[in-house]
Amino acid sequence: MPATRPSSPAVTADTSAAASAPPKRSALAGRLAKLGIHRDADMLLHLPMRYEDETRVTPIAEAMAGAPLQVLGVVEHAEVVLRPRRQLVARLRDDTDVITLRFLNFYPATLKQLEVGARVRAFGELRSGFWGEEMIHPRIQSVVEGEVLPAALTPIYPATAGLAQSALRKLVMRALDRHKLSDAVPEAIRRAAKMPGWERSLRFLHQPPPEAHLDALEERSHPAWRRIKFDELLAQQISLRKAYAARRAHAAYELQATGALTARFIAALPFALTGAQRRAVDEVSRDISLAHPMQRLLQGDVGSGKTIVAALAMLQAAENGYQSALMAPTEILAEQHYRKLAGWLEPLGVQVAWLSGSQKKKEREAMRAKLESGEALLAVGTHALIEDSVVLSRLGLAVVDEQHRFGVRQRLALREKVVGALPHMLMMSATPIPRTLAMSYMADLDVSVLDELPPGRTPIVTKLVSDKRRDEVIARVRDACHEGRQAYWVCPLIEESEALQLQTAQDTFETLRAELPELKVGLVHGRLKPAEKAEVMDAFVRNDIQLLVATTVIEVGVDVPNSSLMVIEHAERFGLAQLHQLRGRVGRGAAASSCVLIYAQPLSENGRERLKAIYETTDGFEIARRDLQLRGPGEFIGARQSGVPMLRYADLEMDIDLVEQARQAATEMLEKFPAEAEVLLERWFGGRADLLKA
Ligand code: ADP
Ligand code: MG
Repeated sequence: MPATRPSSPAVTADTSAAASAPPKRSALAGRLAKLGIHRDADMLLHLPMRYEDETRVTPIAEAMAGAPLQVLGVVEHAEVVLRPRRQLVARLRDDTDVITLRFLNFYPATLKQLEVGARVRAFGELRSGFWGEEMIHPRIQSVVEGEVLPAALTPIYPATAGLAQSALRKLVMRALDRHKLSDAVPEAIRRAAKMPGWERSLRFLHQPPPEAHLDALEERSHPAWRRIKFDELLAQQISLRKAYAARRAHAAYELQATGALTARFIAALPFALTGAQRRAVDEVSRDISLAHPMQRLLQGDVGSGKTIVAALAMLQAAENGYQSALMAPTEILAEQHYRKLAGWLEPLGVQVAWLSGSQKKKEREAMRAKLESGEALLAVGTHALIEDSVVLSRLGLAVVDEQHRFGVRQRLALREKVVGALPHMLMMSATPIPRTLAMSYMADLDVSVLDELPPGRTPIVTKLVSDKRRDEVIARVRDACHEGRQAYWVCPLIEESEALQLQTAQDTFETLRAELPELKVGLVHGRLKPAEKAEVMDAFVRNDIQLLVATTVIEVGVDVPNSSLMVIEHAERFGLAQLHQLRGRVGRGAAASSCVLIYAQPLSENGRERLKAIYETTDGFEIARRDLQLRGPGEFIGARQSGVPMLRYADLEMDIDLVEQARQAATEMLEKFPAEAEVLLERWFGGRADLLKA
């Protein structure tokens, strides 16, 4: 949170008496809604971002620049000057000295407060400016004779236009007065976690006594803050646990492992499963044989071999005569899965159907018929799978590949394709999830981890190259292709304009084709028709294309083991997870692979950090950890954030110990204090808790 100067507009607006009167009811409700405040309970949780100390007065002679302070005196002079621009300048005198107050924006009310002879308090920071040392934009309070100074630190709340600090403060005080602040967390749990009481903590944060430790308050390490964050994390844990239990309460088909198909499949594979794959397969196999739906996340770095784990699970469903659906986020990936799975499973007598949004009507009808009749036991597709009116009459297992690319609602919809028993769900993700996230946002899933890559992979060498040395990179591409290898060339991301991005891809393609006339160069991007896309990808798989110029459509999933060189242009524009995914397109075969990141100067601080991270490590977990630091949790949980309440106050890096505590406490709350658990959910999530059932 950036430190806001006392002279920031949100605070100066306060100097106007007009602005501090609460606005009219309906307008007020709208403004409060902007701050996420819909009821008293929300008002109580609208916590200050920082505080100002108006409990003390500094004699003007002792006032120094560097920290905000308060002076009290009599207005000696005040006038509106017009040069260099319209502004209000006043002089304030106390027994020790005189000080200049300067306002670049002001309301008529401020002018009125500063009548000559008036006694006022001015709160702000001294600045040395053109005119010497003075207070710019102080907050002014008229002082009535005999009035005492505030007894608590003045909270500064996140505010919005038309809702001044003083109005917010009054509203919060009113809510504190009329709301019963019962603690929801039973004393035994509170004591075990060494947490102060709820009411005490809330009151403390809204009205800290003057001796309160300001640093601890502003860093949010104060016990009162920790209690708030613990409360929030506890509510999150409880909600996730409840969602998990609710789903487990449903019935599911018991898909027993007969081995009839899986054993044949494994025997036909040209390689042995890794230990990690075997463990994951066992976990999934056991889960789907149970009478309640599996909800498992299969997490494994790019190239760790998740597809085979899914294939084995789908075969187990087929052994029981049940259907599976595999949903992938892009056409290219879905089609690749379709081909691969059809190649693997059809020899075993399992028919695979393919559904995509852009398929010819006739073909789609045929596929749909096969699925409805139950003739095809596996459906592979993009989100067309759920949008389409296809009926999967016997859906036993739903697999979502690259799950972070889908929204909660989409995943939910896949499950809702059936009536009665819920399908087992297997979600796969190559975005490794840092432990903190796994423990919080993902706590409603069981997790299998592929923490081992198939043997024989050579590590990918990453190189950072300035765009001034583009020629050398082109020479590398030429060499790699002459050795029989293949290469990707990823075009720069242009976030502002898709059209521009396509144009760039087209231009890059033309340029490279001219520069490398002896190579077969292909181009793939999001605007190609699916059939064209498939054609290009096929040619690349067959090595009829040696250099594939691409946009990020190839980011996830694409698996062409013969390609050993990945070039990414303007790498500094890509996110860390994205770079890791792209790099993961090579290093899939036995050949030594490399990834060349071309960057352009100047690099932003963040861009530099990202390139440094991707250069230093190929470990997906380490990259995820750094990415979390650079970007915060939003991106990781992807569209999931629409369903899982984001944390407002708890910080996963800083408060990891609290996550741990909240997890334990959640178990106890749900067992022994279910009513109190509900109170917590209501407090933090109000009406939103239902979204968690996704
Ligand atoms: P990801 O986890 O990124 O989805 P894939 O399932 O696409 O990975 O697998 C990557 C590549 O590794 C594929 O070519 C696949 O056939 C191969 N592969 C998977 N498991 C093994 C294994 N145990 N031994 C050797 N190669 C494997
Ligand atoms: Mg994959």
